[in-house]
Amino acid sequence: MKKFLIALLLFVATIRTFADGVLCLTFDDRHFTNWCNAIEIFEKYDAHATFFVYGKIDANALASMKKLQNAGHSIGLHSFNHAKAVESYRKLGEAEYLKQEIFPQLDVCRVNGIEIRSFAYPNSQRNDQTDKILFKHFDFLRGNCGKILPKGGILAQADGFFCKNVALKQFFPGYSLSGDFDMKVIRDAMDRAAKEDAVIVFYAHNITPEIAKSHHISVGQLEEILSYAVSLQMQIKGLNEL
Ligand SMILES: [Zn+2]
Repeated sequence: MKKFLIALLLFVATIRTFADGVLCLTFDDRHFTNWCNAIEIFEKYDAHATFFVYGKIDANALASMKKLQNAGHSIGLHSFNHAKAVESYRKLGEAEYLKQEIFPQLDVCRVNGIEIRSFAYPNSQRNDQTDKILFKHFDFLRGNCGKILPKGGILAQADGFFCKNVALKQFFPGYSLSGDFDMKVIRDAMDRAAKEDAVIVFYAHNITPEIAKSHHISVGQLEEILSYAVSLQMQIKGLNEL
């Protein structure tokens, strides 16, 4: 009986569901000026995002990370050297990989009160082995859609993109918002997430005044996505809030 109750408690603690779906917007690298400039835009839609920082967390980075965190956003890590995880792990082994890529960032965050629960893979390179190592230090990992969305596939039909139960340790495939992307693809995916109470994750890098050639999202595109999520009554959260 006791074992059954423990198992039941663990099950309840492990599974979290979200009515009307959750939109998680994530941003990579270190575009601190434009990220901080976007705080007001997110506020307008009662939205939070996640910012994955790579590189040395110096005073300037720390100030921006604190500003974003104080505005309710989540901060995640994206490695110290932007090293591809699988290659780097194979070359260095677990201890040295963590020493070179993870701890130099994680330690600074801990000392300075930045709450870290998530990691985004540089260049989305990952495998089961790197997931295993990194789940010892993070609750959530983000890559790209990889195998769940074959080339030419339709995002709204890629079942693996829609996370209906968030586990205590959870990998999220992210879909890239890059350049002049097709907004209908994004809206269709959001429609399904809202209908199925699922979490979906997108990623971009900078937040630019105009539409960029690739990698980045413009302020206009961002507002279009945020207002559509609000119209669907989706929650717009940072990963720390899951
Ligand atoms: Zn990156």
